[in-house]
Amino acid sequence: MHDELTFPTLPQIFLKSPRRSPEALGRTVDAQLRMLVRHAYERIPFYRDYWKHTGFHPDDLTGRTDLPAIPMVDKDMIVEAGQSVLDPCVPEEELDTLSTSGTSGRAITIRRTIRELRVSRRSYLRSLFYVGARPWHRFVTFASTWLHSKRGLFVRKICKTQHLFPKDSLDQQIETLKSFRAVGLAGQTGGLYLLARELLRRGTHHPLKFLAPTGATLMPEMRQTMRDAFLSEPRDLYGAVELGAVSWQCRRGNYHVDADRMAVEIVDDAGKPVPHGQTGQVVCTGLYGYTMPLIRYRLLDVAALSVRTCDCGIQFPLMEPVQGRINDFLPTPQGDLVSPHFLFHIFDHAGGSPVKEWRVIQRAPEDLTYEYVPEDDFSSAALEKGMQAIRERFGAKTQVRAVEVSSIPMTPNGKRTCIVSQLRTEDVTGMRPWDEAVTAGMAQPCN
Ligand SMILES: [Zn+2]
Repeated sequence: MHDELTFPTLPQIFLKSPRRSPEALGRTVDAQLRMLVRHAYERIPFYRDYWKHTGFHPDDLTGRTDLPAIPMVDKDMIVEAGQSVLDPCVPEEELDTLSTSGTSGRAITIRRTIRELRVSRRSYLRSLFYVGARPWHRFVTFASTWLHSKRGLFVRKICKTQHLFPKDSLDQQIETLKSFRAVGLAGQTGGLYLLARELLRRGTHHPLKFLAPTGATLMPEMRQTMRDAFLSEPRDLYGAVELGAVSWQCRRGNYHVDADRMAVEIVDDAGKPVPHGQTGQVVCTGLYGYTMPLIRYRLLDVAALSVRTCDCGIQFPLMEPVQGRINDFLPTPQGDLVSPHFLFHIFDHAGGSPVKEWRVIQRAPEDLTYEYVPEDDFSSAALEKGMQAIRERFGAKTQVRAVEVSSIPMTPNGKRTCIVSQLRTEDVTGMRPWDEAVTAGMAQPCN
């Protein structure tokens, strides 16, 4: 039975799929979706029961346009489903495990076969390939859950790679980078940012051919620090441990959806697709995750599909950058919501950012604390301009306190928490359409 499951080949992933016309690729994706959904219905107890209960049947699905007929799932549902979300016919010894740290909510353990992991890994390597990475490049990765311990034969035999680990001191990390003469650097956004900052602090830099951070929202000041330290434009990858790459920046800086491996929808709170260009929640279906399917899986991120096109040669459709996680949106006393992206840009008209790092703590809709680490050429006038921008956006009732700190805490796995929500549930009830899915008062990392 398992032999009938299809997987894309290496040439398909690297060369053929990204160049196929959207229509041709769409036909393949539709066929793959039908197969995956049929498989989930026949083999996975959780999906069979859930869909029977909600009245969905695989015969109702012809392709991507019918996805809204399938009820969505989220992390909590998958975690609670336990073993019933696994294909019982796959022997335990064939399975590998991916786990999230649990800093962005609840931890989830994903089980995948070697073949399934290979598809994810190749799609990740593809995203690096399209920003200029080549197998003969000396390549350093900042270790994260993205790169699995079991490297493929190709990577092991051909590629010159080294790893950095968050537990290494910055001295060790810089030593690895220099002595290995790395020209490529990829991995955890938070870790790469700290490394970049340390290089600049020492008045040095390490030029790279390519730089690919992933795992957290890449804030403008982080991007700038990396650009200065590595003399290379960071190419961001947006994804999730559960699913792998969802979209990634090409040479032109546009985010292409990983469209041959992932069906991405942007939906409103009822699960209905919103028009291109309009923001909504990101919902993904991994097309080659048979063992533990994630079908219409809500990521709790807010983004938009793009109406723009890209001339880089990759035909995959475009997405706008993720605006933040749902919990990162800040309610105002007037009852509307402010995107975390607004806070990334408060110094746009202040003649440069006066802060190296920051986070915002919201204790009540009208009570904000802006903690910051001052820039070397700190200007209190520029800081005040930023605070004024926040006050204008949140309204006159809002109190904004700026507090200087020596550092902003980072989670052990290198994620930065830029929005800390300490709101009581009753402060936000009814304000955010997705509130039934979130817990107020929980600190959420940027990604
Ligand atoms: Zn492009």
